[in-house]
Amino acid sequence: MSTPSRHALVPFVSVDHMMRLVLHIGVEQMMLDLALAIEADFRRWPEFDKTPRVASHSDIGVIELMPTSDGQQYGFKYVNGHPSNTRQGLQTVTAFGVLADVATGYPVLISEMTILTALRTAATSAMAAKWLAPRYARVMAMIGNGAQAEFQALAMKAVCGIEEVRLYDIDPAATRKCAANLAGRGLRVVSCATAEDAILGAQIITTCTADKQYATILTDNMVGGGVHINAVGGDCPGKTELHRDILLRAGIFVEYPPQTRIEGEIQQLAPDHPVTELWQVICGTAKGRRDAGQVTLFDSVGFAIEDFSALRHVHKCLQGTGFYQELDMIADPDDPRDLFGMLCRAEAAASAA
Ligand code: NAD
Repeated sequence: MSTPSRHALVPFVSVDHMMRLVLHIGVEQMMLDLALAIEADFRRWPEFDKTPRVASHSDIGVIELMPTSDGQQYGFKYVNGHPSNTRQGLQTVTAFGVLADVATGYPVLISEMTILTALRTAATSAMAAKWLAPRYARVMAMIGNGAQAEFQALAMKAVCGIEEVRLYDIDPAATRKCAANLAGRGLRVVSCATAEDAILGAQIITTCTADKQYATILTDNMVGGGVHINAVGGDCPGKTELHRDILLRAGIFVEYPPQTRIEGEIQQLAPDHPVTELWQVICGTAKGRRDAGQVTLFDSVGFAIEDFSALRHVHKCLQGTGFYQELDMIADPDDPRDLFGMLCRAEAAASAA
């Protein structure tokens, strides 16, 4: 059998290696770094190829492909969303992704992205809150205490200086799990019996629930002036979290409007309802929070550029570490046009053995 050449071996980050990399760097530091990496890529937004993600829906879930390129590198993520999975002991969201070199088309990284998605989603939430939430925000409500929740809370602490997190989930076991995981991590953790209780005194409200329906996690009367809402869980057609009246009085900030209009909270609004693109706020070409009394909403759905930034960041962090293995993933014949000959030589070697 021929030995694959170096460029045919693709670094692969398994779940185990991703956990070791994150623990080596530190969870909060990793999310701080990811927020900076994502922000840097949002600043050069026009350089990217952009398209709404390609979604394949079923009655109970969705499988999506999320591609983008900056002309130098190309990335995509495979991700699913199946809210009923947890009832069978499976996760709602799982993912993996690939980064490739545009010049050759060869992949340069393949990685688990279930953990990386939680990290990048939390980093994106915190980055948005840094630009939109009231400066004095120290208390956040975390509604939906599933897989994403601890990451969301810790990113808000690391990036925005949140000191207290108020938890609520319709399933008290999820809140108990979340409170236990956050204990001793520098946040005051308050477990609440209702969503109303959770948002008491919170300047940032994050909704991160999973249900494939038009849910109403927050109604208009629950939301006071000046708060920042980070709506993470409404990310599919027919899957939203906020009452429409909240949207009608909020300043709405989005990632990529053609995708968010299909998937985000704003699918409940007219197709021409004004929204602001977050990258423009970061670049200073659009206004962020208008005044202290405004309700701001980051209608998060998750966009391909965030995954591209995350994959590039992981690729950079891997250098000089052993937190990956090399996969023999790209066929690499000595003569690039003699792919069949490579198979013939393997056949001869196998029959000689
Ligand atoms: P999960 O299934 O692990 O957790 C969801 C939690 O929401 C569960 O604990 C459930 O009990 C709770 N919940 C459901 N309905 C509720 C309600 N009415 N009130 C309070 N709690 C309720 O899912 P997860 O991995 O944490 O993901 C949460 C959501 O975030 C999903 O909808 C997922 O699609 C979405 N998501 C969005 C992005 C993004 O970039 N915007 C990224 C990842 C996940």
